[in-house]
Amino acid sequence: MRAQQVRAGFVELYGTEPEGVWSAPGRVNLIGEHTDYNDGFVMPFALPHTAIAAVSRRDDGVLRLHSADIEDGVAELRLDDLVPESDRAWTAYPAGVVWALREAGHAVTGADIHLTSTVPSGAGLSSSAALEVVVALALNDLYELGLPGWQLARLCQRAENVYVGAPTGIMDQTASACCEEGHALFLDTRDLSQKQIPFDLAAEGMRLLVVDTQVKHSHSEGEYGKRRAGCERGAALLGVDALRDIPYADLDAALARLGDDEEAVRLVRHVVTEDERVEKVVALLEAGETRAIGPVLVAGHASLRDDFRISCPELDLVVDTAMSAGALGSRMTGGGFGGSAIVLADVADVDTITKAVEEAFAAAGFTAPRVFEAVPSPGARRLV
Ligand code: ADP
Ligand code: MG
Repeated sequence: MRAQQVRAGFVELYGTEPEGVWSAPGRVNLIGEHTDYNDGFVMPFALPHTAIAAVSRRDDGVLRLHSADIEDGVAELRLDDLVPESDRAWTAYPAGVVWALREAGHAVTGADIHLTSTVPSGAGLSSSAALEVVVALALNDLYELGLPGWQLARLCQRAENVYVGAPTGIMDQTASACCEEGHALFLDTRDLSQKQIPFDLAAEGMRLLVVDTQVKHSHSEGEYGKRRAGCERGAALLGVDALRDIPYADLDAALARLGDDEEAVRLVRHVVTEDERVEKVVALLEAGETRAIGPVLVAGHASLRDDFRISCPELDLVVDTAMSAGALGSRMTGGGFGGSAIVLADVADVDTITKAVEEAFAAAGFTAPRVFEAVPSPGARRLV
């Protein structure tokens, strides 16, 4: 249905049929926060919310871009003019992908693109990665590049890091490109090895809610950079390439070596314990003990709040209220300082928890949150 609408939109804009229609999802991260730039583990799953793009090739070095969600005309760019950090608009994401493909030596000669997305933008659910991956997959198919999902994800990350100029890890793009329906993706961000872990909550009478606080604190980007630099400093102090190289069993010794460097102690402790929590969640899910992941999620939130210090009152209120109202587990997800939290709950408790969170937000004078259910959905694919 949406695929047909996007196809029709393309015909209206460009006057011809698109060669195909592709989709790529947003994601939530079940566990493994701020580990991806420490070479560690993450465990995202794909949302039912997707970016959908109708695309055709061109052979004249021109890239035409249009988003049904942005009130603007068709942007027309020349491939030879694409320069990193030259574009502050949304078009930098798809243009960055074309730039990254060409820079990697792939003979992309132009494209007409019309897209739309249901991934909430700026909510920590990776609308930017969905946009990048849908374009990358379309061009991969049309230009017969034969790149596997993990490699498309790398190129999309490069587009976002270098062309857009946003420092992000590899999780978002890999999740969008590689997730599978009914599964969470256990990803080792060092070598990009991955494992699909069955995560079918409905079959076990549970649900996973996403609570979008609709808050984005303005200092979030600067704080991300500080945490990232702080983790690199911690790794340097401990003489390892990345904090991933500190085994959980050696954590106490590592912290002792950091002495009274309180900042380094807190950052190192979060990253090392968070990697351990991801492995614990994988083990529990593989053992069929889904309910038991709840306390691990809550411990992850406490670590992000107290050690990594990237939570905010709205996120803490979701977690505290949900847990008091009977949730099995809850934690903030994404970069922090706003965005979304997740809540794991028995089906019977979903309405009570949702109501409790909404009432708590109203009582605190916060903007009403957007609550929706997240079913582990398919990764990027061709629709038409
Ligand atoms: P997140 O990835 O968490 O949603 P980002 O700031 O990384 O937040 O990406 C959001 C940006 O992605 C938007 O500001 C916009 O430039 C772009 N974007 C997202 N969805 C769309 C869309 N449907 N059409 C055009 N641009 C979009
Ligand atoms: Mg993003």
